Amino acid sequence: MKLLEEKIRLEGQILAGNVLKVGHFVNHQIDITLLREMARELGRLYADAHVTKVLTIEASGIALAAAVALEMGVPMVFAKKNATANVSGEVYTARVASFTHNRVYDVIVPCAYLSAEDRVLIVDDFLAQGNALCGLIDIVGMSGAAVVGCGIIIEKGFQGGGDALRKRGIRVESLALVDRMDAETGEISFR
Ligand code: 5GP
Repeated sequence: MKLLEEKIRLEGQILAGNVLKVGHFVNHQIDITLLREMARELGRLYADAHVTKVLTIEASGIALAAAVALEMGVPMVFAKKNATANVSGEVYTARVASFTHNRVYDVIVPCAYLSAEDRVLIVDDFLAQGNALCGLIDIVGMSGAAVVGCGIIIEKGFQGGGDALRKRGIRVESLALVDRMDAETGEISFR
């Protein structure tokens, strides 16, 4: 999406450790007009995929997932990173190493929210090494549902997670695919 690439180029900040900060329009403060456009684009890309559920991981995937689910007219489910008192009954869990928080989470989705008949679109704000998506794909696999593909706002292609998933035959659509970013010059280029 050209609009998104332009915004990342103009407003994204490159932090240490290959972290791209887009907190003031993607994942902390949210540009709602851009969010709507991104949801429409993912809705268009997956229009023929017969999606029945959109799945993401808390916290920063939730806004996009809700917008995409609204666009597609299907429910949205998010994996929680911590078991809380109001998660009861049987759950699917997967271990996910967090790229930005440098820790490992057991992410949880109640079994009741995914069934073998579901066709699941997995979305997230970023794709780096692919740990978050692999955890979610494992959870969908446990439920017997089908993964129709993944929809990502920003993929950092140089970290390899997206291409590894594509090699496994999983459809990955990224609205902006960063090829390289240079913390010293601030330059960002797209594939
Ligand atoms: P992965 O699991 O693919 O290595 O990393 C994806 C997860 O880490 C996403 O859920 C996202 O929240 C976070 N993440 C990875 N890279 C970045 C980044 O450059 N910037 C931000 N803000 N989050 C990132």
